Amino acid sequence: MTAPRPLIAGNWKMNGLELALDEARAVAAAVDARPPAARVALCPPATLVHRMAEALGGACVEVGGQDCRAEASGAFTGDIAAEMLADAGATLVILGHSERRAGYGESDALVAAKAQAALRAGLEPIVCVGETLAEREAGRTLSVVAGQVRGSLPAELAGKAFAVAYEPVWAIGTGLTPSLMQIEEVHVAIRGELTGMFGAYGAGVPILYGGSVKPSNAVEILAIPDVGGALVGGASLKAADFLGIVEAA
Ligand code: PEP
Repeated sequence: MTAPRPLIAGNWKMNGLELALDEARAVAAAVDARPPAARVALCPPATLVHRMAEALGGACVEVGGQDCRAEASGAFTGDIAAEMLADAGATLVILGHSERRAGYGESDALVAAKAQAALRAGLEPIVCVGETLAEREAGRTLSVVAGQVRGSLPAELAGKAFAVAYEPVWAIGTGLTPSLMQIEEVHVAIRGELTGMFGAYGAGVPILYGGSVKPSNAVEILAIPDVGGALVGGASLKAADFLGIVEAA
């Protein structure tokens, strides 16, 4: 089985007004002019998904959402369905980000239900897992992450396009990153869970690393065996920084 292209996905979080689409256009122009080895995606806030998809129409940069509701429609004020993201032009969706697990009490079971919703809508889920600093210091990293993988990935993902993102909570937005050996150790453990759950198919599922990835550390992180791309927060907001990471893949 040939390895899939690495995926470099930008998570804009709650950042970006219409003017920020200029950054997305700059990314698309560079990617189209010199196609990189990696697939490239940007996940703006929900208000910009449609406008970004239109602005980049036909470009090689994919557009994703940052979360979705498990239900397809209904009385869920303020929420967004996977079908709505797909209708707006998204092809991917980030699920189970630690900011949602911590801020909204999202459980593994809820993340798994959202992953099923993403499949139902034809979206590729990027399912995030990762330990807190307290869990790492207690020596629980591998058991926490393995439990999140098992609980957040529904069996229906077998044979479908999806990715797992390992994002140590303490490395997100802090400028801190685990050592290369620590990243590799967790990715190997996630790979073991994926093959246990999905057999040979699990051997090819991309496992992204996320947490303070920037142009200056991207080359060494992306060279780690079993790192199949990156989920990038802060450094995805500026085209030049994001492109520095894209080019490192
Ligand atoms: C993220 O929020 O998914 C993330 C990885 O953020 P940052 O790159 O800013 O650490």
